[in-house]
Amino acid sequence: MVLKTDILNIAAIDNHCHNLLRPDWVNNATYTTAFTEGNDAEILEYHAYHSLSFRRSVRDIANLLNCDATEESILETRQGLGIEKLTQKCFEQANLESIFLDDGFLPDYIFPWQWHQQFTKVYRLIRLEYLAEKFLNSTDNFDEFLDSFTSQIISTSPEVLGLKSIAAYRSGLIIEPIPKNTAKLRFQQIQQENKKQNICLTDKILIDFLLGVALDIAAEKKLPIQFHTGFGDRDLDLRFSNPLCLRQLLENPRWKEVTIILLHASYPYTKEAGYLAAVYPQVYLDCGLAIPSLSIQGMKRVLEELLELAPTTKILYSSDAHNIPELYYLGAKWGRYLLAEVLEEAVNNGDLNPKESLDIATAILQGNAKRIYSYPEN
Ligand SMILES: [Zn+2]
Repeated sequence: MVLKTDILNIAAIDNHCHNLLRPDWVNNATYTTAFTEGNDAEILEYHAYHSLSFRRSVRDIANLLNCDATEESILETRQGLGIEKLTQKCFEQANLESIFLDDGFLPDYIFPWQWHQQFTKVYRLIRLEYLAEKFLNSTDNFDEFLDSFTSQIISTSPEVLGLKSIAAYRSGLIIEPIPKNTAKLRFQQIQQENKKQNICLTDKILIDFLLGVALDIAAEKKLPIQFHTGFGDRDLDLRFSNPLCLRQLLENPRWKEVTIILLHASYPYTKEAGYLAAVYPQVYLDCGLAIPSLSIQGMKRVLEELLELAPTTKILYSSDAHNIPELYYLGAKWGRYLLAEVLEEAVNNGDLNPKESLDIATAILQGNAKRIYSYPEN
């Protein structure tokens, strides 16, 4: 019991999350948008209200805000507080040591990363596909495009601690080495086909090539790369976001020194992710999105499955919070609480002694992140 209290007091590093949406954009969406990966109106306006995690979250948020456990009451209370006070409340209760923001998600609708510094320490992750799109839309010269892309990764500012790829959403995780000439031809083809339109980078050849370029720089600069794996918005093909698809990349000697973080516990491929982390020194695991989006049993099972094979030095906490500050709170609350439960059971089962379980909780909540990213010493 004493042990559990100790674990509940450890400040967490949220190593993968997103900028908050500006209030005008939150008000345009249904509240369920932040709690489901679906985007169909029938899901958002009906079914999403009936998931276990939404039911639980409404009660959790009502407790935090001291209001009735109804959507109307929550919306009214958050409106009354305003975004700053609401965020302050959520972050304080979440007890966060720092957050690592991927600021390439909904870039036109979010607060800039600096805005979040009023609540906690903030670091950044560069979303590679978003970076590529910026230059894909600003030049039709391949060499210029490639120069801009690489120089942005090489000369990152000090708040950048890593890179992030959403290849799983675009073309899948079977990432193959692509010769530069092949990529150049494809670049020119894409430019021809999409004259004067906003190009969304979905082409597998170009994405694989750019990831190869980014991985080469990451190897040299010792920059970790987070890969979206497992479930997510419905534009991904779940078959190709299985982390086992990464085998070619993980086996390539050119990139074996690059630290790879598999996001979202690779849910539902959690055991597969655990296996990869157990055998590849460069592979690490993250529990975000699975926590806080699943049922309590589901979240607990994810932590158990990550811990059943993978070394505890390989697991990191995150929430994948996005859009609204409540998700930061819910992630930290359940991540910490269920980690304490799972570790307490490991002590009862004889897997760990109490001292080991406390050290492991500290490592998962902050120590592992401090070790694998170039985390600034205070
Ligand atoms: Zn994310």
